[in-house]
Amino acid sequence: MHRLDVVIVGGGIGGSALAANLATAGLEVLLLERETSFVDRIRGEWITPWGTAECQRLGIHQVLLDAGANQVQRLIAYDEIVSPADAESATLRYAEALPDLPLPLCVEHVVMQNALLAHAEARGAQVCRGVEDLRVTAGAAPHVSYRQAGESREVAARLVVGADGRTSAVRRQLGLALAEDPIDHLMSGLLVDHADDWPSDLVALGKIGDVSYFVFPQGGGRVRAYVDYDIARRGRYSGAAGARRLLAAFDHPSLPEGRALAAGVPAGPCRAFPSQDASVDTPCVEGAVLIGDAAGYSDPIWGQGLSSTFRDVRIVRDLLLSEPAWNAATLAPYVKERRERSRRLRWETRYATQLYGRFDPDAVAARTRAFGRMAESQDFQGYLVAGMAGPESAPDAVFTQDYFDALFGP
Ligand SMILES: Cc1cc2nc3c(=O)[nH]c(=O)nc-3n(C[C@H](O)[C@H](O)[C@H](O)COP(=O)(O)OP(=O)(O)OC[C@H]3O[C@@H](n4cnc5c(N)ncnc54)[C@H](O)[C@@H]3O)c2cc1C
Repeated sequence: MHRLDVVIVGGGIGGSALAANLATAGLEVLLLERETSFVDRIRGEWITPWGTAECQRLGIHQVLLDAGANQVQRLIAYDEIVSPADAESATLRYAEALPDLPLPLCVEHVVMQNALLAHAEARGAQVCRGVEDLRVTAGAAPHVSYRQAGESREVAARLVVGADGRTSAVRRQLGLALAEDPIDHLMSGLLVDHADDWPSDLVALGKIGDVSYFVFPQGGGRVRAYVDYDIARRGRYSGAAGARRLLAAFDHPSLPEGRALAAGVPAGPCRAFPSQDASVDTPCVEGAVLIGDAAGYSDPIWGQGLSSTFRDVRIVRDLLLSEPAWNAATLAPYVKERRERSRRLRWETRYATQLYGRFDPDAVAARTRAFGRMAESQDFQGYLVAGMAGPESAPDAVFTQDYFDALFGP
């Protein structure tokens, strides 16, 4: 059997970006994707400045811009604990706050998937869509069997990459355990059209009443809107009227532009997701490696998953291209870096959860106190910096229980 260099399972964000990069370097790459056409699954669309910098390193920044990615200029944290005028006076302008990093992006997930898959194909990766019954065997002679268009096929490769997302079949088949954190709250997301009055350069987040909200504009009156809420209210945005109830939550006096969303038109499914982190201790075995969400995912409340996936792709690419013969040690630096990155991201999502994912009676007092401390001392802004400039950009002390207690304690 002819042996390819790399078979990548999953033609989503991570799989396509890696396929494009390895094929560009001259490797023989096969990309296997389950879906014959992509639909809105409600997945990441906000790419942080550090994630956008990774896109530049992967040669896909322009690909995303050409596909219509929206460059975001500013963030306002409209919130029930500040007046709209005070929130506006604390506007974060990305170009000023992070002059060394590119602007963050908002891009519809399906648009991004289509653009990156087409890019991988244009760079010489072989793309096969509509695969079913996929079986991965790792070890000294890795191979993958699958069915496509009713025919059974088998391919051998030097390396199999599992890039098949949070419910990864490759992870399961390799016997790699996923450690999931407890779920304390839910988030529901919806794509919204005709939100024409929402400024297309503005992202916003905050807490209003019994939800937290996140708004990611994509231009042309299209916006991705999320709300987070207590798990005890499961089912709150389900059913035929769920999308309208979600939009109505944005009509709140603390959020002046919220009426633009409340008057918008649902443009996709409205679904709930657990707000939760999950990790794989060692996402690598002989002959196979996991990247992106397959290797463990960051709680979507903090919007770091895409950036982290692009980081995976860049590190794995560099290691694979650094030596012609791959062995067990080749990807060890990836495993080490990812473990520390995941640990830090977990702390970041804990902070975000304290601020935006608590709905108990003490939550308002606790977050008011924490925001006061953050306003008084730059030291307490470390996790905000990490969320924009990357987990490695903040001091070690930020990712500790002492720091957590100092920020959120009584
Ligand atoms: C509700 C929600 C909101 C989010 N918001 C953000 C955000 O704003 N910003 C952010 O950075 N991150 C966000 N994320 C996380 C982000 O979506 C993921 O981190 C990112 O999509 C991971 O990319 P991936 O390529 O690893 O997986 P995916 O994007 O899930 O791609 C996996 C691909 O594998 C394919 N596949 C699956 N099984 C198989 C199989 N057996 N055979 C072949 N192909 C298969 C799928 O069809 C898909 O194309 C969010 C996640 C959720 C759930």
